[in-house]
Amino acid sequence: MHAQEFKIHRLSAYIEELYIAEYKDKLLLLDGGSRSDVPKIEDFVINTLKRQMSDIKLVVSSHMHPDHAGAAPILRKKHNIPIAAFHEADDWYSGIRGRVQQKLDTLMAYFVVIKTKKPRKAFRYPTKLKPDYKLYDQDKLPYFDDWTVIHAPGHTTHQIVLYHTKKQILYAADTVLRVGGYCILPFPINLKNIAAETLLKLSKLHINKVLLAHGGVCENENFTEIFLSLIPKIYKKLKPPFNYFTFISGLPKPIKEYIAKDNN
Ligand SMILES: [Zn+2]
Repeated sequence: MHAQEFKIHRLSAYIEELYIAEYKDKLLLLDGGSRSDVPKIEDFVINTLKRQMSDIKLVVSSHMHPDHAGAAPILRKKHNIPIAAFHEADDWYSGIRGRVQQKLDTLMAYFVVIKTKKPRKAFRYPTKLKPDYKLYDQDKLPYFDDWTVIHAPGHTTHQIVLYHTKKQILYAADTVLRVGGYCILPFPINLKNIAAETLLKLSKLHINKVLLAHGGVCENENFTEIFLSLIPKIYKKLKPPFNYFTFISGLPKPIKEYIAKDNN
């Protein structure tokens, strides 16, 4: 394998899919996973890939939800793996409102657990990720400069996706989900106009393959059309119980700043 060549492995984790980009000399973990995913990641790296945990040079947490930021702090503590996240990620659960929001986000994750009939496992994780690398839009990933960071707000203020320019691969985090073969919007979307801008931005990328955090790998599809077709759906009225969840998902302080921008 050439130094910059890599293979993507998909790992079906607790309530999301994780991806490991395997290079000759290093591994990249996308994305942060749930706390209960740690043994699964270790088992996969050691027994399936026949690599060492220290080969993981970076774990990227796309945003602060329990299934994207839960395992990373444990992986760092146990295996010294540095965490990369958007520079505003730790503002998300700051203050009392933030802490309440984290509890509500965890409740929403349990709602997914119940809906998908998964066994109940702990989601507990710190409100601050304290990333070793604070990322900005258009940054190259540390250790993996073939991947570009794209700020993709809408679902949260600080979500990022990752784009591999050469191979035209997009790790889409929670910008789009695929359920029953259909691409749908994530839940919640607090910043509607900003989410529309994000989808428009993604629609302009040349994409061969999309790695979804919920829905697996999509290939040979017209992603421009898919992203554009989802924009009008952002403004559709939600039915219960989702409309209530939207109401209780707007507590974090950074949302206010972004809402002011969103209304412009
Ligand atoms: Zn999410």
